[in-house]
Amino acid sequence: MGGTFDPIHYGHLVTAEEARFQFNMEQVVFIPAGIPPHKARKNISHSSHRLAMTRLAVGSNHHFTVSDVEIKRSGPSYAIDTVRSIGKEYEGWEIYFITGADAVLEILTWKKVEELLQKCVFVAATRPGFQLESLGRKLAHLDRAYSSRIKTMEVPALAISSTDIRRRVGEGRPIKYLLPEATEEYLYRHGLYKF
Ligand code: ATP
Ligand code: MG
Repeated sequence: MGGTFDPIHYGHLVTAEEARFQFNMEQVVFIPAGIPPHKARKNISHSSHRLAMTRLAVGSNHHFTVSDVEIKRSGPSYAIDTVRSIGKEYEGWEIYFITGADAVLEILTWKKVEELLQKCVFVAATRPGFQLESLGRKLAHLDRAYSSRIKTMEVPALAISSTDIRRRVGEGRPIKYLLPEATEEYLYRHGLYKF
């Protein structure tokens, strides 16, 4: 599961756990993005903070791990590079790429869509405000063989986003219960999002 994770929150964790359960996954690897090519926002927290917050958040689930492949790679983070390197590391395993339904639409503009869908099954989680029909319509352009490699999954509606958490911190509003306590403590201790 890739993301900016700035910061990671319960929306991400619930999605990962539901995907793990529904698709019988052995392990979920959280991969904080290096420089996300699609993110216009300039002031993304340093990768060391995003990595640390992600590690703190997944600590209590033995099926969850964190990988720094994208962070260690220089240049923009493209899904295809990550999928190739995870494919090598987990040779012989079935790889699933967990994303929000919003992000799955973006993959159509990413590099090497066909190779991506060949190398892994996409799990698109619906989140609040997202229209499943529009996902279906957009994916209708894809070849049948490819579109069958994209699974959708309902997750309990969690109207949590990193954007909202950052804004709340900036405004001095509470973020308790939106993300794991250890992550919350970390971001306050390091003075993140105090714009
Ligand atoms: P930002 O607001 O900065 O864009 P975000 O909350 O969307 O942050 P990302 O790191 O961009 O978090 O998301 C990583 C992945 O998790 C994306 O595929 C996104 O769709 C998914 N995701 C984020 N929030 C939720 C949520 N509340 N429920 C389900 N999926 C989510
Ligand atoms: Mg997002």
